[in-house]
Amino acid sequence: MKRYLILLTISFLLTACLFPPPPPPQTGSNSPTESLSPANDQSSQNQNQASPTPEAESESHSHDAPHTSDVDATHLEIGDGKYSTSPRVGYIFSCQTQFNGQGAAGNPTWLNGDGTWNALIKAVVDGSVSWPHSFTISIQNNQRVFTGNGLPDHTTGNYPISPSDDAYVYDRNPNSISEQNITLTLPATPTVAAQPSCMGGEVGIMLSGVVLFNAFDALGRDAQVHEVQDECDGHPQQAGVYHYHALSDCLADTQTGHSALMGYAFDGFGIYGYYDEDGTEITNADLDECHGHVGVIEWDGQSVEMYHYHATREFPYTVGCFKGTPSVRSIGGQGQNQQPQQGGQNQGGQGQQPPQEAINACVGLSQGASCSVGNMTGTCMTPPNTTQLACVPAGGPPP
Ligand SMILES: [Zn+2]
Repeated sequence: MKRYLILLTISFLLTACLFPPPPPPQTGSNSPTESLSPANDQSSQNQNQASPTPEAESESHSHDAPHTSDVDATHLEIGDGKYSTSPRVGYIFSCQTQFNGQGAAGNPTWLNGDGTWNALIKAVVDGSVSWPHSFTISIQNNQRVFTGNGLPDHTTGNYPISPSDDAYVYDRNPNSISEQNITLTLPATPTVAAQPSCMGGEVGIMLSGVVLFNAFDALGRDAQVHEVQDECDGHPQQAGVYHYHALSDCLADTQTGHSALMGYAFDGFGIYGYYDEDGTEITNADLDECHGHVGVIEWDGQSVEMYHYHATREFPYTVGCFKGTPSVRSIGGQGQNQQPQQGGQNQGGQGQQPPQEAINACVGLSQGASCSVGNMTGTCMTPPNTTQLACVPAGGPPP
């Protein structure tokens, strides 16, 4: 029993899976559940956020193009181990390059045996639980401010996963979903940074109010393949944070032509749905090393050409690295403009003892064990130049 707990806990800690939930219609002002603040003070600079390499998807602007797909969801390449110490198309530029955790057990029947998996036959966690969702987005002083309780605007499966659920054979997620206290401040008009930044376990926030994690489980495996989620592609980690690793099917893409906005990465750039401007489904081949491109999008009620990410059915599903500068690294440790290191190993501080709460979180635990401080989850390790075992979040040490 305990083993499963540890397995799952760890796997959720590090999960950097990228599942961007489908974006609600992005008309800027009034989406049904969120108070998306209108363009307000943003109109001034929306134009210049475009990346230096515009491979614009801008030829035809056929906003009414129906969505079409050539992606074979029965044969998707498995993303196990596809992390990199530098930006790379189809990979995750991960701050963490050592994965000592453990993941969900079981031998998924949705593996094809040839390095691909079949998304159409994957197990789903049963249930239809409603939650007192709370989520608002507003713009204040050119910052986009998110507040919410982390509970989705859609139903979830029953967690912990019940032994009577067919999903239990593959994933015994013992965690329950719990209310969080989310306050995030991201740039409202993000700009492309000189260099992309590596990613921790958490990637952004979706318009359903749900946190987006990257595409990995604790073992550096493709979490979308090895972990089992509910109908809306979400599940809780050990601190009760309900999250996605890819685009949730419960975020409706209500637009023809270019997909609607689905959420925001922690650098402030938007994450859009599966489809390009001509209505065709996007693959990694259409995107850059961070899983985005420059094109015309709806942004705070205006049509502008700027950088944005796309969700894909291909690994890494949402964001591969931060094209801008992440202003937060997790829902638990935000607000410090912490700069990730560029090189990969990003798990240690620089010559300072870790905060006491991080040390306390690992009392009685061993190196590599999963841990949590408040809403933040991480791994117990000894940061460089320190002697204390401390809880280090997947995105790097807390500020
Ligand atoms: Zn696009």
